[in-house]
Amino acid sequence: MIKKGIRRQIVLHYFFVVFLALLLVEVIFMILIRSYYYDSIYKKIENRISSVSEFASKFKQPEQSLQSYLLDFSLPNTELQLLDEQGNVIDNSTNFAADLSVQTSDVTQALTGDTGKWIGKQPGTGQQVMAVSKKLDNIVGDQVYIIRYTTSLELVNDKLFTITVFSVGIMAAVLIIVFVVSTGLANSIVRPINNIRDVSAQMAQGRFDARIKGDYRYELGELASTLNYMAQEIVRTNQIKDDFISSISHELRTPLTSIKGWSETLNSGGYDPEETKIGMQIISKETDRLIGLVEEILDFSKLEQNAMKLVMGTVDLRELLQEIMLNVWAKAEMKQIKLHLDSEETAYLVHGDGNRLKQVFLNIVDNAIKFSHESSIIFLSLQRVADNIEISVQDTGIGISEENLARVRDRFFQVDHQNGGTGLGLAISQQFVELHHGQMLIRSELGAGTTITVSLPALQAEQLTEPSQLTQG
Ligand code: ADP
Repeated sequence: MIKKGIRRQIVLHYFFVVFLALLLVEVIFMILIRSYYYDSIYKKIENRISSVSEFASKFKQPEQSLQSYLLDFSLPNTELQLLDEQGNVIDNSTNFAADLSVQTSDVTQALTGDTGKWIGKQPGTGQQVMAVSKKLDNIVGDQVYIIRYTTSLELVNDKLFTITVFSVGIMAAVLIIVFVVSTGLANSIVRPINNIRDVSAQMAQGRFDARIKGDYRYELGELASTLNYMAQEIVRTNQIKDDFISSISHELRTPLTSIKGWSETLNSGGYDPEETKIGMQIISKETDRLIGLVEEILDFSKLEQNAMKLVMGTVDLRELLQEIMLNVWAKAEMKQIKLHLDSEETAYLVHGDGNRLKQVFLNIVDNAIKFSHESSIIFLSLQRVADNIEISVQDTGIGISEENLARVRDRFFQVDHQNGGTGLGLAISQQFVELHHGQMLIRSELGAGTTITVSLPALQAEQLTEPSQLTQG
């Protein structure tokens, strides 16, 4: 007995469908073959009856002689009877039970003028027989004759029985083959499913190193590779999360150590005003850094929850870039990096949230400075391309390898965790750009430099309206 489950379902379904189909074919086949045999017997008798009828209709001699001629029309293995109107046997080709009266339906039918046919058990012998009767027309004199042929169906029935047994045997053989084939098919489906189930159970228990092995085809293959991919992604995300926690802790610890150090120093007193001023400046700068860090994390979580609100208005990107250049000037100066803006002396207007767009370009320019070599130049450019405004930030810094390039936009991804970031900057920038219906393209070559191009839809005349608010999602 097959255990309950998909395997049994498949085998039973196949078995049932094929069994029904075979049964139907078997029944139709048997009906056809039976009627074929019976019909051919009937046809043979009917032909003979036609000859007798024709002979009788042309017979012009006294009736006594017709009766003696009729029995010459007998058929092999068939009893020929001559009946009167009441069904009494007048004469018989076998001369057996000549005084019997016949009342079967074929005789009644023959009396109406048709050829009567009856299949049934013959009284006395109990054998199944076919009787065909016909009234003879145009007979000289008053005597009505019914000619009746009776033939045993036992031989035909024996033959039909042999055919039935043979075809049932074939049916059983086909069912056995179906059983074997469907069990094989069911196994080929169930085995991978069981394997996938076992491995996913391991995954559910946290064993994400487990993988579904085996080269499965079609949907099962897709399911297996999807699960493997899911496990791989979970491992990767966990890794990223761990990296994030360690980098965020590091990020928090550095300013906190500095703040704590200076506050303790200042608390102990006895320092001159100049030193106190430097200490207070460092505390303030480090606090700003902490605030920036926390804000970045908050922005990210808002974006992730689709809860970011944009305050839309008209933004001049040229003005925005110039402002950013001023913001990062001190940082760039520390590495003797020059920033060069290439644009026409005109306003480059877009419809957007000025603060968020500033955040995007500040992050890109800040990265460019962070990853550029000392005494290099960062080129910023602004140009109109069709209905868009393209802003490019190009550096000649360390660049990004092809493999990492595909992942720099991933949240928490950093090529080097020592660079002092969260790995959220580009992920947030990407989402802000998308919220402004723009695109961000990053091209980079390891050792040669990076170019980040942001394309934003230029402001159309009809958008020159009052500031509006746009909620993400
Ligand atoms: P963060 O700068 O806080 O680490 P980002 O999301 O802004 O995070 O950047 C992700 C990573 O992409 C960086 O850690 C760095 O490895 C790489 N990257 C970004 N901009 C540049 C650039 N201009 N040159 C080289 N690498 C860069």
